Amino acid sequence: MKYDSLIVGCGLAGSVIAERLSSQGEKVLVIDKRDHIGGNCYDFRNDDGLTVHKYGPHLFHTDDKKVYEYLSRFTEWRPYELRVAASLGNELYPLPINRDTLNKFFKINLRTEDEAARFIELKKEKISIVKNAKQQVLSTIGREIYDAFFKNYTIKQWKTDPENLDASVTARIPIRTNTDDRYFTDKYQAMPLNGYAKMFESMLKNVDVKLNENFENIVKKISFEKMVYTGPIDEFFGFKFGRLPYRSLDFQFETLDREFFQEYCLINYPNEYEFTRITEIKHATGEKNEKTVIAREYPIEGGEPSYPIPNDTNHNIYGRYEKEAKNLKNVWFAGRLGQYKYFNMDQTVASALETADEILLRCKIKRKINL
Ligand SMILES: Cc1cc2nc3c(=O)[nH]c(=O)nc-3n(C[C@H](O)[C@H](O)[C@H](O)COP(=O)(O)OP(=O)(O)OC[C@H]3O[C@@H](n4cnc5c(N)ncnc54)[C@H](O)[C@@H]3O)c2cc1C
Repeated sequence: MKYDSLIVGCGLAGSVIAERLSSQGEKVLVIDKRDHIGGNCYDFRNDDGLTVHKYGPHLFHTDDKKVYEYLSRFTEWRPYELRVAASLGNELYPLPINRDTLNKFFKINLRTEDEAARFIELKKEKISIVKNAKQQVLSTIGREIYDAFFKNYTIKQWKTDPENLDASVTARIPIRTNTDDRYFTDKYQAMPLNGYAKMFESMLKNVDVKLNENFENIVKKISFEKMVYTGPIDEFFGFKFGRLPYRSLDFQFETLDREFFQEYCLINYPNEYEFTRITEIKHATGEKNEKTVIAREYPIEGGEPSYPIPNDTNHNIYGRYEKEAKNLKNVWFAGRLGQYKYFNMDQTVASALETADEILLRCKIKRKINL
């Protein structure tokens, strides 16, 4: 069989690139070693008719109009703004930390943004050069909040002290002086109306898809002109510069005979319990059902790769693979595993659209030269 393009990985990155290339008349094959499309965004309906997010809760949010409009070609949306709480003792606190969180936690009564900003200024530790995640939190909000909300959660999640992690890990979480309790503030926040898997089906309708297929096997069976690889970049190069480590998650799902289990879609447990959070995705899907499904998340080692571990050693290893990748002709690396970077879905789509444009431009130039 002869294809113009082979795409390895049927997650968001692979599917966007496949859709773009096939829309320009290319014959495209997408393969995935899993038995389903959608990569980590995959969802399915269980026997009770409830949606389950197999690889963890996926809430779409973006400020990028182009990304939102692009995905809107393949799905309708259900507007949904995520709200998250942290459970400390018997109390729930709004996350990200906002003025209400500060008032409840410190048992004070900050009434304005200025009052909150002044309070935070007093709590902050002065650190001239912030070198890691611990210092990032201490220099932004101070030690009490660090100890209660960040320290143990980060240790559970990453199995290492925040001192050993990039400041970027905690810098993603804002500290607010207002009382906005939305987890994200992006302009577009929504769930695909019929789920992620249906959205992927629609994206891939003009593309050949082969599941339960590994890259090593398929290259022996088909011919293709170019390839996009969205699997782990270190695996592609036979781990020659060492392994790029990931933190994994084990999701323990439970169906309960009640309409709702918790008040929020997502509750974090920084201190109590071995799990880091409990998700009840029904809040986001809006499904009406007498039952509900919850997922407890246990960080583990050695499962499916979930989060790249951002530190200097790993950045250096990745840099060596990236250099090697640039020497390859007609091969592109994309997505979170191909680029060893945590990407939100919108970032994955934006980056995949760019890669697809680059590939199409290169093909056009090549065709012109050959004419
Ligand atoms: C727990 C969790 C929760 C998240 N929640 C959100 C959220 O709420 N909002 C948000 O915007 N983003 C969220 N994300 C990020 C989101 O999952 C990613 O942006 C997106 O899945 C990245 O898509 P991808 O195609 O790069 O990777 P993937 O979805 O991982 O796809 C890669 C695919 O390649 C396949 N593959 C790998 N190697 C091979 C091989 N050798 N042969 C064949 N196939 C192979 C894999 O099986 C996989 O299906 C979350 C991520 C995690 C880990």
